Amino acid sequence: MPKVIEEGVLYISKKYGTAIHKCCCGCGQKVVTPLKPTEWSLSVAAGGVTLRPSIGNWSFPCRSHYWIRNNRVVWAGDMSAAEIERGRRLDRAAKQEYFARAGKKRAAPTNPPTVQGPGLWKRFTKWLTSS
Ligand SMILES: [Zn+2]
Repeated sequence: MPKVIEEGVLYISKKYGTAIHKCCCGCGQKVVTPLKPTEWSLSVAAGGVTLRPSIGNWSFPCRSHYWIRNNRVVWAGDMSAAEIERGRRLDRAAKQEYFARAGKKRAAPTNPPTVQGPGLWKRFTKWLTSS
């Protein structure tokens, strides 16, 4: 397993038959997709890398759901990105309330976290071993 996982990079290990990437919503969670007939299948074509089926991160707080198709992140439905943004707003509101209660006149963060995608992956890394 690579020690450092960059966002926007899909790490593929043929030896371990698995692929790893960071959740495309930008939450930083590591997503492991075993490449098995019963799990995910990876196809590499001229247009890029495609992972099937979709990736549903139901166990993460973001619960994001998307496909990786031809090196692109395709969000499942229009709701996903909106839901993520709504969740972040609620989170920020909760934090503001916390600071207000704590009596600290702390300003809310002016720069909300950036939501990644849909967009091109920066690059795909074939993370292979020689043995
Ligand atoms: Zn996420």
